[in-house]
Amino acid sequence: MILFLPYSPDPSYLPRRKETIEWLQSHVEELTSRGWRIVECPCEGDDDYENGFRSLWGEDDLIILEHDVVPTLDALLALADCGRDLCAQAYQFYFRSNDAPGEMLGFNMCRVVLPGGAQGYVPDGADQADFVGFGMTKIARHFQVNNRLDLPAGRWGDLDSRFCEWVRGRGFTWHVHWPYVKHNQMTEG
Ligand SMILES: [Zn+2]
Repeated sequence: MILFLPYSPDPSYLPRRKETIEWLQSHVEELTSRGWRIVECPCEGDDDYENGFRSLWGEDDLIILEHDVVPTLDALLALADCGRDLCAQAYQFYFRSNDAPGEMLGFNMCRVVLPGGAQGYVPDGADQADFVGFGMTKIARHFQVNNRLDLPAGRWGDLDSRFCEWVRGRGFTWHVHWPYVKHNQMTEG
């Protein structure tokens, strides 16, 4: 298992990252003792996240953990042990708009495509999603070796959307894992 950790080295993100960093520091021995390889990816340039992600394709089962999602050991191991190829851990996701600051919008960015093409957030406990955020996500090596990553290039900020679109084009959906974990999305400063 590769645990891929893309993060912003910008000091302004440290408050959001603090809890995740502390969690990893206290669990690194546990994870490496299980044979997990931890790959940190400081994202200074716009292409670093995507290049890091692409460079690992095909190597091993991959879990992406973004810098402000706080896992639990049970949740990480459940992703790792799940027999499904594409799994997304649910996590808190909030509005960014000024209309409803701080209001919880949904889980991860787990959405389904509704009849007519619009997208809706999945309810608590939903098993499947068509679109997910990359915050805490597993992509099994089995899927990687069976699907050449001919994903069109684009902005790093929509890598997860582009990837989900690409996955959906191949007829796959995402398995969603519960209960949701903490996301320090709104705790800047
Ligand atoms: Zn799963």
